Amino acid sequence: MALIEIPNAYNSDMAVSTVVRGRFAVVGEPIVAVDLINTVAPPGSPAGDDLLSADRDADAWWRIERGRVPGGDLPDIRALRRLRSALREMIEALVDGRPVPQAAVSDLNFFMQSAPASTRLLLTGTELRTQTQWHWEYGGNPRLAYIATQAAEFLSDPVQVSRLRRCASPACSIIFVATNPRRSWCAPGVCGNRARVARHYRRAVRA
Ligand SMILES: [Zn+2]
Repeated sequence: MALIEIPNAYNSDMAVSTVVRGRFAVVGEPIVAVDLINTVAPPGSPAGDDLLSADRDADAWWRIERGRVPGGDLPDIRALRRLRSALREMIEALVDGRPVPQAAVSDLNFFMQSAPASTRLLLTGTELRTQTQWHWEYGGNPRLAYIATQAAEFLSDPVQVSRLRRCASPACSIIFVATNPRRSWCAPGVCGNRARVARHYRRAVRA
């Protein structure tokens, strides 16, 4: 299963022109956690496959997300999938208006506490700036701790939570952050196009 990158048209200047069949990933959502949960479809859905089913898939995903996460060694893929499950359970519950499972909250806390960060103040010439330093010495992985911490800040803000939305295509399980309130598709060039084609087909059949 190849990981196909569709830059989020709402967050980038790149137009989505390629029509992609099958599973794909939309990247560039405001938090890395949303990109991560969209690498797997919920169990029982028509597209129930996993874009991170092998180490090389995970390597490709981390390459796409580089620059948004701390550097250093990649985490174990099982740990990445465990964080993804917790995030998917929490975010789906919030989108569907169901109670958030306590087990998922505990899992997120585990990842947040697994690698602490500290802030340093640096003096360069006359300029002061801060730098976040991630600590490896407790055995955790800063990438996972960062994704969990960023998600926790986002998910504890009701305004941000109200922007979480499912793609309007019934065949699509992608969840996104509607920073533009009119956004209803994960990627307009993919699901939006599919819907337009289907509408056109139905009109043609009726005519
Ligand atoms: Zn979609």
